[in-house]
Amino acid sequence: MEEKILVTRSSMPSMDEYIEEIRDLWESHWLTNMGIKHQKLQSELEKYCDVPHAILYTNGHLALENAIAAMQFQEGGEVITTPFTFVSTTHAIVRNGLVPVFCDVNEVDYTIDVTKIEELITDKTVAIVPVHVYGNLCDVGTIQKIADKHNLKVIYDAAHAFGVQYKGVNAANFGDASMFSFHATKVFNTIEGGAVTFADDSLVQVLNDMKNFGIRGQESIAYVGGNAKMSEFQAAMGICNLRHLDEEIQKRKSVAEHYRERLSGVDGIRLCKEQPEVKHNYSYFPVVFDGYKYTRDEIFEMLGKENIVARKYFYPLTNDIECYADYPTAGAQKTPVAKHTADRVLTLPMYADLSSEAVDKICDIILK
Ligand SMILES: *Cc1c(COP(=O)(O)O)cnc(C)c1O
Repeated sequence: MEEKILVTRSSMPSMDEYIEEIRDLWESHWLTNMGIKHQKLQSELEKYCDVPHAILYTNGHLALENAIAAMQFQEGGEVITTPFTFVSTTHAIVRNGLVPVFCDVNEVDYTIDVTKIEELITDKTVAIVPVHVYGNLCDVGTIQKIADKHNLKVIYDAAHAFGVQYKGVNAANFGDASMFSFHATKVFNTIEGGAVTFADDSLVQVLNDMKNFGIRGQESIAYVGGNAKMSEFQAAMGICNLRHLDEEIQKRKSVAEHYRERLSGVDGIRLCKEQPEVKHNYSYFPVVFDGYKYTRDEIFEMLGKENIVARKYFYPLTNDIECYADYPTAGAQKTPVAKHTADRVLTLPMYADLSSEAVDKICDIILK
């Protein structure tokens, strides 16, 4: 039987390389709690992202929850965000006792529509949590101007944007803080993992305390913290994967170019344009079927029959899911562009080692 083509495939170093990296853990018997691998990965990430601080977490979701918590907003504060994202973004806001206020996305790159932010600001608004969807960067300049004018914090969900640069500046440097996910399915992985990046020195201690039960010293517990520490084995995976990241992104770029060659200029098929002055990471390949001879759901089925798994990402919207059904700010009709897109978008299989034949097979099915 032909092999199944999944929507993604985790990057891994060779087994030998990983074993070499974890060998000294058998000597130290130090498996977690900010050991040498953790320290090494942290400083390598700060260097790679050219950012003053990176704090590592056991996953991206808790990194985002902690980044928001570290800002110490008044409970009930409103946070402007988008529903065209993974549920984690909205959950992180709500689990901090804050209220998500959903702003629509723009039709070009599906990030927050900056022309619609200001009309949502009230005297309760405390922050903006925009998402760099598919690795497409938000309009960071305009967002910062709005935030400065209204005295709001900006925390980016940059889960998709590891390695992305705008005019030579790494995505880790925008807003008050950014969260990256290093989940197995992301461009760069530590199996499960994540980080918060930022410039403000005063956040270092809070974020470090919070991920370790709020423990500041042996007899000092400064916060009601949780446990979100990255283990040595996760960090070792990250150290290995980081060595190969640039090559992986280069390979993803070839896959994206191949898709583009086959699918651009087709009536009813919309691809994301390349953003000017952005060095992309080719994390996903989203395609919007809008007025095409087949619907998104038909294409999804047709691919599925040939053992190819695409993903309706993001569908449903987070302002349209049952756990927020009774929420006063919910309702996908309030964000029509996000709704239109969520009903028509499919992300196609995308990973560094996706073969050229596989891309052709996928495109043949779509175009037949
Ligand atoms: C993956 C992801 C997260 C959560 O990260 P985890 O590491 O899986 O916890 C949050 N937001 C977005 C947009 C994501 O894609």
